[in-house]
Amino acid sequence: MSLERKLRARIEGKQTKRKTLKLIKWLQRKHLLKEKLRCPLCFHKMKMFSVTKKDQYIWCCKRGHKRVSKTIRAGSLFEKSKSSLLNWMKYIYRFSQGLRLRQIDMISDDIAGSSTTLSKMARCIRRVCICAMERQRRKNRQCLGGRKEFVVIDESCFRHQRKYARGRFGNTWRRKKWVFGMMGVKDKRRRVVLKLVEKRSRRHLVPLIRQHVKAGSSIISDEWRAYRVVLRNFGYKHYTTNHSRWFVDPRSGSHTQHIERAWGIIKGHIRRLRGNRTEALLKEHLMVLEWSSWLGSRNPDGPLGRLFKDIQKAFPV
Ligand SMILES: [Zn+2]
Repeated sequence: MSLERKLRARIEGKQTKRKTLKLIKWLQRKHLLKEKLRCPLCFHKMKMFSVTKKDQYIWCCKRGHKRVSKTIRAGSLFEKSKSSLLNWMKYIYRFSQGLRLRQIDMISDDIAGSSTTLSKMARCIRRVCICAMERQRRKNRQCLGGRKEFVVIDESCFRHQRKYARGRFGNTWRRKKWVFGMMGVKDKRRRVVLKLVEKRSRRHLVPLIRQHVKAGSSIISDEWRAYRVVLRNFGYKHYTTNHSRWFVDPRSGSHTQHIERAWGIIKGHIRRLRGNRTEALLKEHLMVLEWSSWLGSRNPDGPLGRLFKDIQKAFPV
């Protein structure tokens, strides 16, 4: 059974105390919760006891050091959260299903009582993804291209729009900005690098291309670009696609249509980030999109498997 189905089996249906225990044991086996804990007074192994509090179980010392009972969440991602483990798992399941998460649906599904609770959970998970992506960057500098991978570049305008009349003025952000995207395409693999830029000029984009695309790679962009000649000087092969002449990659046979479809999905995600957002938050969301393409989709158990792995890394229990 896939990881996803296993998780679904544990979060669906009526929740009994037995089911809660099963979920806890499963999370312990997955190393998201501590499997063992020692009493800080006598250093003997503690035991899980049933209580009537939120998680229904706590760690207690068998030798009667009752005052040192600990929550089963000790040291885990969930330690500081007030949400139930069940709701956490529901949220994580939804997250792994797609990045298209609507708060309103999740509130109606009882994952969280309020949007504040939900935002807190979302922030936690984003942090986990961002840490993982930063490790990945240190490892390979997020380099695309090479002999077998071609790179598509594109920009999306990102104008700040406030959804509601109210809002904080201090850190909202109104100027027009651009999300510059570079997508490496190799067979079915798609990896994206997404950067926020002030302008889409040569001066802003060429350094990013040089940083993230290996020299000698094929770069594809739509229509004419001001920096075309510059790219050639840096050793890139630059192709343009315009809508009358369909571009077909000689090696992969990949069509402009495929490329445009892949871009469409990414752009859709980016479009959904418009609204009442701060720049810092937007950057975080872009990094989660990068996480999804570099790490999430490449795990044998999908984004869920990768997320479990990254939570283990961020919160070793
Ligand atoms: Zn003890």
